[in-house]
Amino acid sequence: MTAPPITPPVPVTVPFFPPDLFDGDREALLDAVRAVGTGPGQRFILGEHTARLERALGDRLGPGTADVVACSSGTSGLSLLLAAMDVGPGDEVVVPAFGCAPLAATVLDADARPVFADIDPVRLTIDPAAAEALIGPRTKALMPAHMFSVMADMPAFRALADRHGLRLVEDSALAQGGTLAGRPAGCWGDAGVYSFVQVKTFGMPGEGGVVLTRDAGLGRAVRMLRNHGQDGVHRFVHHRVGHNSRFDEVMALFQLHRLPGLDARLARRAEISAYYSRRFAPLADRGLVAPPAGGDGRFPYVYTVLTGRRDELRAHLAARGIAAHVYYPRPLPAQPAFAPHAAPGAAWPNAESAARRNISLPLYPHLTDAQVEHIADAVCAFADAHPDPHPNRER
Ligand SMILES: *Cc1c(COP(=O)(O)O)cnc(C)c1O
Repeated sequence: MTAPPITPPVPVTVPFFPPDLFDGDREALLDAVRAVGTGPGQRFILGEHTARLERALGDRLGPGTADVVACSSGTSGLSLLLAAMDVGPGDEVVVPAFGCAPLAATVLDADARPVFADIDPVRLTIDPAAAEALIGPRTKALMPAHMFSVMADMPAFRALADRHGLRLVEDSALAQGGTLAGRPAGCWGDAGVYSFVQVKTFGMPGEGGVVLTRDAGLGRAVRMLRNHGQDGVHRFVHHRVGHNSRFDEVMALFQLHRLPGLDARLARRAEISAYYSRRFAPLADRGLVAPPAGGDGRFPYVYTVLTGRRDELRAHLAARGIAAHVYYPRPLPAQPAFAPHAAPGAAWPNAESAARRNISLPLYPHLTDAQVEHIADAVCAFADAHPDPHPNRER
């Protein structure tokens, strides 16, 4: 009897997070290290390059942006904002029940309580009606987040915040490049944030982010809070209990180098995203649901589909060398760290459904057309071979 042939593992030909994001800019990175490392001032944080990057990002956002403040991460930006808004013990902040950990963790770090609102089943972003139902006497702020490639319903949240006299923190960490009704992501809230962690649309080889705001007072407070509560003029005078959330000069120089290419990279992401959407539109009948069709309030960060056969799809793609990613396998209130702070007995059915069914496909600017077609072919072949007997056409 001959042994069955051993099937060699299929090599990953399309990684989910590409390791070569900065290959074309390696010389610029080394130049930045050299320039800052040998600069006469030996200034490594919060120097002239950081200031130039803040101005350049502010210019892109157009008139009305009062301040762009670089800080050490998107998460830290949210924390600085909550601190600047005096969110603290006894306060509640309404956040989505489905999303990334910082949405709950930054509120808890401020000694306030996150109140989890269910999401919209189509956009996968926080549902304004669910959020409104949770507003009470202790509510201090609303913190909607943009998700995957879809902006939250910011006009509704702006109106809600105004009607109830609440602060509005916009978690736009991954939404740089998106606009809704002509207004950039991050500019709908009292303030927003962008993250520059490696894989984000304006990612970099390090940690960092910015806070952006149209409220000059808030901008000043965040500027102070990012550097131990100092005002930038008088050293060792601490006006507020601050944080250490400063920005690195090497990274600032590198980001200034990368900024002119950002729009082209966003356009290529949008092109790939639109191609996926064309290919996947007919699959809804077979139980594979693509993001809501493009247009206003979209940004091409990752491409996330929903399917009741998520784990089978993931295996099917892996067998074809394609790495996919499940971002959030559980809703936030079901995480061990946050469950003790969630309302007992509450349910978040749309968040739970999204957590069971979400899977994200590779989406980055230097995917080749052939790779993009290979991914789309593989997803379509899966849907054809495994039609969901109970297609849920809702996302
Ligand atoms: C990435 C991200 C963050 C955190 O940003 P970091 O720079 O990684 O701290 C916060 N919120 C959302 C929605 C994100 O995608």
